[in-house]
Amino acid sequence: MKKKLLSSILALSLAFSAVSCGKKGESGDDGNTVKIAYLPITHSLAVLEEAEELEEKSGVKVELVKYGSWAELLDALNSNRVDGASVLIELAMKSKQEGIGLKAVALGHRDGNVIVVSNDIASAADLKGKTFAIPHRQSSHNILLNDALATAGLTVDDVNVTELAPTEMPSALASGQIDGYCVAEPFGAMGVSLGAGKVLFSSEELWEDSLCCGLVLTDKFIDERPDDAKEFVESYKAAGNALDKEKAKETAKKYLSQSDEVLDISLRWISYNDLDITEDIYSTLVEKVKAYGLSDNPPAYEDFVKNDF
Ligand code: ZN
Repeated sequence: MKKKLLSSILALSLAFSAVSCGKKGESGDDGNTVKIAYLPITHSLAVLEEAEELEEKSGVKVELVKYGSWAELLDALNSNRVDGASVLIELAMKSKQEGIGLKAVALGHRDGNVIVVSNDIASAADLKGKTFAIPHRQSSHNILLNDALATAGLTVDDVNVTELAPTEMPSALASGQIDGYCVAEPFGAMGVSLGAGKVLFSSEELWEDSLCCGLVLTDKFIDERPDDAKEFVESYKAAGNALDKEKAKETAKKYLSQSDEVLDISLRWISYNDLDITEDIYSTLVEKVKAYGLSDNPPAYEDFVKNDF
């Protein structure tokens, strides 16, 4: 297992870092290109799929800009170096709260997260006193950890919560450095595939219609190019509706450099249809964000979510 683990981790690290600055600025601003930032995760497959389809249909060209971390991606988004991004929605909410001009226009995906724990943990109650990794405090992974602990009457005060880079989580679990984690896919599936851990909860068992990633566009892009923004969002939602398991795997193979086994496990947990951010699901998110201390003052639906293209 060790050899497999090391080679998988190496492949993953390369996948994450190799192209992180390769496409930036390549096409220049010809006025017809939409620059979209993404991380190579299954949670951004809808935008990767759309990029291929949109130019054929409408002549609007999508330039995908790959980043190696949420921090780098957020920096590009917040400084208008890209027109939009597929990003953890809580990070975008935080940016909005801090005065950055952006709107969430669709979900990145539906469901698609798991709580992975070491094989000796049988229930949420067993997490007491253990170390649990999340990618960022501002994430649905943090919320799902809180939800999972609540099923056993526990809170984050009962565990050691640590922030780790997603690529490090499967190996940290395998080595016993952490006892569990929750993070964007396919890193949960990777831990399972390696035999380092198992799924304790899937996201829908803890939080029905959970939000995680959102497609976010800058106000600058929406204001300056309203027709392109409309075309982009409509085409994105259509691409999501058409993204069945087979197509998702095809797209993932192209962009994610992951094994068939990891992708097969991961893609079982996620779907991409019906990507509207409704007021209902957003208000549940806002409640959780407040209850679990991610933010006291998250943006109002009407200020942050745009559905009226
Ligand atoms: Zn996500």
